[in-house]
Amino acid sequence: MNVYDSELVARILDNKDISPTDSAEAADYIFINTCSVRDKAELKVLNRLKHLEALKKKNTSLVIGVIGCMAQNLKEEILENKPFVNFVLGPDSYGKLSALLDAEKPWEVKEVHTDLSKYETYDYIYPLRNGGNSAMIAIMRGCDKMCTFCIVPFTRGRERSKSAESVVNEIKQAVAEGFREVTLLGQNVNSYDDGDLKFPDLMERVAQIKGVKRIRFTSPHPQDASDELIEVMLKYDNICNHIHLPLQSGSDSMLERMNRNYTKEEFISLAEKFKKRIPGIAISTDIIVGFCGETEEEFSDTLDVVRRVKFDSAFMFKYSERPHTAAFKRMPDDVPEELKGERLTRLIELQKINALEINKKLVGKTLEVQIEKISKKSDDHYIGRTDSNKLVVLPKNGKVPGDFLKALITEAAGITLFGEPVSL
Ligand code: SF4
Repeated sequence: MNVYDSELVARILDNKDISPTDSAEAADYIFINTCSVRDKAELKVLNRLKHLEALKKKNTSLVIGVIGCMAQNLKEEILENKPFVNFVLGPDSYGKLSALLDAEKPWEVKEVHTDLSKYETYDYIYPLRNGGNSAMIAIMRGCDKMCTFCIVPFTRGRERSKSAESVVNEIKQAVAEGFREVTLLGQNVNSYDDGDLKFPDLMERVAQIKGVKRIRFTSPHPQDASDELIEVMLKYDNICNHIHLPLQSGSDSMLERMNRNYTKEEFISLAEKFKKRIPGIAISTDIIVGFCGETEEEFSDTLDVVRRVKFDSAFMFKYSERPHTAAFKRMPDDVPEELKGERLTRLIELQKINALEINKKLVGKTLEVQIEKISKKSDDHYIGRTDSNKLVVLPKNGKVPGDFLKALITEAAGITLFGEPVSL
């Protein structure tokens, strides 16, 4: 979502004939787009601002903006201690940027806008994309779920959806620009609501757009992952064989403390249903370890779900308190840091074993891969991605990023597959 938001801001700047540079020293305008989901990001931004303060001393007409989710949290600090920052704009205030940049001396302006909107969807801005294989398309913004650990409802506000018509138009424009893959984005995509048109209906409309070869989406809340979603995934070949189902914890008592609205067994049944109905589907997840009061037994439940579901991949994190959340207000962050680290290591080890086991079963199969970029380890190899979101390292063979090819999978190493192009 932050990448998408940066693309929106890039378009606003482009409309003012402000073009990108790789060098902060050469820039006349610097905007930091921030994320609040974990606390480390906040420290990074404060450190980056120290560096920008030095730049502003050298170039007094430099315009500095802090935008995105952290604007809300950092606003007091910036107002009091960072006079060199010109604009602080929350995720629903990017629309104000254009007028702010019209000021005669924008480097002397100081404006803070962090109000959240019930309506802003930015359907009037077409993002300026900087390459990549997948065109990100935000279909909704905000979240009403109120998971007790999560800052998103406080930084991004209430749920609101773009009209299906504007989503379809945005995708048609992306296809005309050459994109063949789109990723539908939202904090909770299956809360998508355009009157009678819900998320599976939108997927159906998108799947019928000519030229869209792959459709990804992230993230659905497990509570709302419906049978209609499965039906539409089965009906259209261009909807990727992958679903992200954030588990967060495998323990019923923890899930209740997290306000996730499903139980361990309900989650397992849901994952099994997806696997049974959509053969070969890859399931990824997010897991938090060391959330408030997590006992060894509760953590064991998480390991148990990971063992039983066997996720293809997982984003795994230690819990860190976020301001404004119910957990921050009412639950002590009482799992010692060392124990959080130890549990995270155990979880990662288990996940690695599972991922390797799943990926080994793909050796000998021929899969369609879209080339993404040159491999970091070898200039003679490309990295590509399968429909089920697996990375494949392939020798270059006259293809270019964006091209599709069939690859015979020859080896699985951790989460990465190795393959050889095949002609069919
Ligand atoms: S559903 Fe996701 S974005 Fe919404 S509150 Fe829960 S964790 Fe945060």
